[in-house]
Amino acid sequence: MQRSDTAPEGIAGYVSPYPYLDRLQEKMEERLDRKVPATGRFCGFCYARLRDTDTVCAFCQTSTSERETVREIPQEVLRAYKTKQSTEARWVHSGAFFGLIVASVLFIVLVIWGPGPLGHPAVGFAVLIGGGYVLAQLFGTFIGAQIGYRSGARKRDAAWGRFLVERDGTTSPAETKTPAR
Ligand SMILES: [Zn+2]
Repeated sequence: MQRSDTAPEGIAGYVSPYPYLDRLQEKMEERLDRKVPATGRFCGFCYARLRDTDTVCAFCQTSTSERETVREIPQEVLRAYKTKQSTEARWVHSGAFFGLIVASVLFIVLVIWGPGPLGHPAVGFAVLIGGGYVLAQLFGTFIGAQIGYRSGARKRDAAWGRFLVERDGTTSPAETKTPAR
């Protein structure tokens, strides 16, 4: 089985105990944004959308004979993906905002105390605009996104784990499937 997507260090230093959730995240976000129909044919284990001809789920390898497909993704499952999405977004936005604050403080410091040409308002504005952009990228898109990914993925995975225990009594797909012969 290919497991190249789960390098030991994982993404941003976090390794999900459920690798298929990361691969499903984008699909679930499309569903959350209502870019795809709510109903269809979904894997009975992980709720990935299956084609009419699929007999094995490409995400969790569960076959449709082991688990009946379902017509909709449970709300509880969608909420877990939503939590991941909004946690990550919040970290990115807060990080970017922090970057802009830092740039604004630098602007004020330069304009008031900047020695010689550094105190020229043009320099201050260049720092405010250019530095604001760079710092927003650094703290938002770079640092915030990493922290947000870890935090959001942990929350999502914990919610999925609770859902599995409630549904199957175990978090392991192997224990709920009939052994392949
Ligand atoms: Zn599946």
